[in-house]
Amino acid sequence: MNILIVEDETALAEAVEHILRKAGHNTDRVADGQSALDYIRLGAYDLILLDIMLPKLDGLTVLRQLRSEGAQTPVLMLTARTTVPDKVAGLNAGADDYLTKPFDPEELLARVGAMTRRKGTMVLNEISFQDLTLDLNAVTLRRGSRDVQLSPKEFALARLMLSEPSMTYSKDLLISRAWGLDSEATDNNVEAYISFLRKKLRYLGSKVSIRNLQKIGYRLEVAP
Ligand code: CA
Repeated sequence: MNILIVEDETALAEAVEHILRKAGHNTDRVADGQSALDYIRLGAYDLILLDIMLPKLDGLTVLRQLRSEGAQTPVLMLTARTTVPDKVAGLNAGADDYLTKPFDPEELLARVGAMTRRKGTMVLNEISFQDLTLDLNAVTLRRGSRDVQLSPKEFALARLMLSEPSMTYSKDLLISRAWGLDSEATDNNVEAYISFLRKKLRYLGSKVSIRNLQKIGYRLEVAP
């Protein structure tokens, strides 16, 4: 499973990452609520481990925001708080389960395993726009009976643009979402991957293309 760990206590986050990776999961790790939202909107996560007390945006705000955007990804709240009102607030905000800190590795893996089994149809597996379907599990872009495999960056860009197809995306925005805010990616990287993605759209014969708006950014365009 692809799991996002949202935890600002570095030692704990590293320990959790170690346990999950040893158990065969892929993990990403962020330490504040705003980065969590950025990553979740972009990444194809099967599960989110979400701390409540976080810098920038707290965990409950992140969770409410996600659910209000329609994201169905299962969320396991990590909380040092043991009081009932906080748990109720978390459940109301759309959490699927709780783990109270400190917890032991066995307990963590048991909960993660239970949430995977429960997952079922909760996760949205595809994004469709016009004649295109982006398969979030297979990481492929499809049109009719034709499909192409996407690289991780192509996938990130396609996912972003197809999720909000009417939006104009500046290069800075694409870098921050697809590469991360602390990355050293430049406009050249964006241009390269947009050009790869265009080739794949042409291969598929899609009506959708990526238009370059000079000095502004990119926008999806649909041929009549
Ligand atoms: Ca915390």
